[in-house]
Amino acid sequence: MKLGFPNHPRKDVIEEIRWIGDSGFDFVDLFLEEDKATPNKINVWELKEVVGSYSLDIIGHTAWYLPISSPSKRIRDSAVAEFERYLKVFHKLEVELVNIHANWQTGLFSVEEVISFQIESIRKIVKIAEEYGIDIMYEPIDTPFDTVENTEKILSAIPELYFHLDIGHASLYGRKPQDFIDRFYDRLRHVHLHDNNGLRDLHLPLGCGKIEWMEVLKHLLRYYNKTLTLEIFSPDREYVLVAKKKVERFLREHS
Ligand SMILES: [Zn+2]
Repeated sequence: MKLGFPNHPRKDVIEEIRWIGDSGFDFVDLFLEEDKATPNKINVWELKEVVGSYSLDIIGHTAWYLPISSPSKRIRDSAVAEFERYLKVFHKLEVELVNIHANWQTGLFSVEEVISFQIESIRKIVKIAEEYGIDIMYEPIDTPFDTVENTEKILSAIPELYFHLDIGHASLYGRKPQDFIDRFYDRLRHVHLHDNNGLRDLHLPLGCGKIEWMEVLKHLLRYYNKTLTLEIFSPDREYVLVAKKKVERFLREHS
């Protein structure tokens, strides 16, 4: 399993990548989003150089808040256009895999309607991404709507779309990551790992919440051994390095 870490998009991208490289990760989960990691602020050649100097791979990550399920068609279309700006940068960086987050703008609109809005937007994005040689994967987020059943509706409507498991998100509201793994392992392309209390999406270091992450990883290893991002947002990054050591030790003992 390769281990990665994300850059904080509100910090200098190059300095963030240096920290990730110096800390011995295999890849950067590149968050291209506001406000310091936007297409107009990314220096592609400098970024390529620093990533190359550490032999880091890149997996593409886009903003979680893109309104791909807005009831307004013009807003959905602008989300697709915004996504394409990021795809162009990922393409220049030779990234081949990029995520898209679920989006649930309900209210006066039913869950089924919102699913159809997501499908409409994601179909367009997958088609555009194909032209750039990029695969798109769908990451369920932290709402009560992000169930196995709703995820299935979206994945089955778009056969070219892959699955991105976030173990933290899949542990909220009594959900079990193992259920997502069992259902979607054949389309699984990337995994995020962090901890929470089962109630809120806290992105804690492993062992600080209630997720039985070793049990989840044991289950995951039956089907999957590719890339795993420690998506831990603690301001003190020593906790990230502790989590990294714990996961490495676990993988040594179980792979
Ligand atoms: Zn995630």
